[in-house]
Amino acid sequence: MQTPKVVILGAGYGGLITSRQLEKTLLNGEAQVTLINKHDYHYISTQLHKTVAGTASDEKITLHIPDLLKTDKIQFKKGTVQGVNFTSKKVQLESGEFIDYDYLMIGLGFDVSTFGIPGVEENAFKIKSFRSTKAIYNHVLRQFAAYKEDLDPSRLTFAVAGAGFTGIEMIGELIEAMPKLCLKYDIPVSATRIINIEASASVLPGFNKEAIDFTESYFKKNGVELMTSTKILECSPTTITLDNGEELPSRTLIWSGGVRGNTLLEKLDLPISKGRINIDKFLRVQGMENVFCIGDAALFLKEDGTPLPPTAQVAIQQAEVCGPNLIASLRGEQLKAFEYHHKGTVASIGNKAAVGKVFGLKISGLFAALMKQVIEARYLFVLGGPGLVIKQFLKIGKPHSELAISKQK
Ligand SMILES: Cc1cc2nc3c(=O)[nH]c(=O)nc-3n(C[C@H](O)[C@H](O)[C@H](O)COP(=O)(O)OP(=O)(O)OC[C@H]3O[C@@H](n4cnc5c(N)ncnc54)[C@H](O)[C@@H]3O)c2cc1C
Repeated sequence: MQTPKVVILGAGYGGLITSRQLEKTLLNGEAQVTLINKHDYHYISTQLHKTVAGTASDEKITLHIPDLLKTDKIQFKKGTVQGVNFTSKKVQLESGEFIDYDYLMIGLGFDVSTFGIPGVEENAFKIKSFRSTKAIYNHVLRQFAAYKEDLDPSRLTFAVAGAGFTGIEMIGELIEAMPKLCLKYDIPVSATRIINIEASASVLPGFNKEAIDFTESYFKKNGVELMTSTKILECSPTTITLDNGEELPSRTLIWSGGVRGNTLLEKLDLPISKGRINIDKFLRVQGMENVFCIGDAALFLKEDGTPLPPTAQVAIQQAEVCGPNLIASLRGEQLKAFEYHHKGTVASIGNKAAVGKVFGLKISGLFAALMKQVIEARYLFVLGGPGLVIKQFLKIGKPHSELAISKQK
């Protein structure tokens, strides 16, 4: 009998932790596993807002994928997935290459939802990948440099759309970055503006009142202009049009208005709702026995019929079940139903403050910020053990490369 081929698409949270599970449990020669990812580095998506603001070095945010694979049970292949033929069981790469599989795991992550608001797709900056966030950082630097020449205030007006989880984390980093950038370019901090635009009546919809109050007063203390109950109608390269009639002169709108599944998923012949693939309780694509899907790409419905949110916490827990289920499938054993256990949510507001709830306990301020670091360290621990935690912790922030990377969609 031929050795079964397992192919994992995407080396994000879901794809990497699934790979770790396979490495731990597969017997030598039991399966031929290939992990495919667009780049040869994994980026820690939960920290991408730090790359936007330049508050963390590239080395802290990205990890070389082959270094994370501990055994030769998994082969890494750098490649961009273009399509999948589920009948002939082949993955097609942009390079024109085809990869055969017997079992497939789709972990292709998220894309940004812009809700068709005119100009947003073309002109707003999206927190989507390491490259996209690096491009925003380079744009920010260019605005500082250009301001020295033309003193155009729109260059130093940084707007963030959305005051949900990602929007708040983005604002927190901008608060920290502004004084450092002003010092670097010899510009007074008073020349900069940070604006947060949110359609709901408060920041952090769905969070507890203490978290909302803490965040709003932290913003006020740090000069953030918070515009709640305000919708963006249109965005041009130099202006943001709001539903209160205001035309905001700004060359930087960072879009944190929401996420959906990777747009590539719509091109696949699979059951899809709201941009995400419908999966069953064993994390298999509905109606398919050899194709699994997890993380932001997957739509998993809870017993009450509501979907699990697109979070790293969900992707990691799903991967911890998906790995064993893949192995059970190829061994012909019983699969385990996935159950989600919510441990809490903590949103950082820069390095020194955060808000949230962990194991039912409401937390805010410095203690919450420390808790956030513990959560990030735990992920590294699951991925690479104590060695990786220490290695990442010791990495001294090298300055960001200021080379312009063209804005990627
Ligand atoms: C700024 C920010 C902060 C966040 N903070 C938190 C938080 O604090 N807590 C939390 O739980 N969640 C948080 N999230 C959400 C979390 O990052 C995602 O839910 C998580 O990354 C999903 O994991 P995933 O494996 O599904 O996808 P991803 O981690 O996005 O991985 C997808 C992988 O697929 C690759 N890929 C995509 N397309 C292709 C292709 N065509 N071919 C080959 N490879 C491809 C990508 O390069 C990537 O490596 C945050 C997200 C953002 C953006």
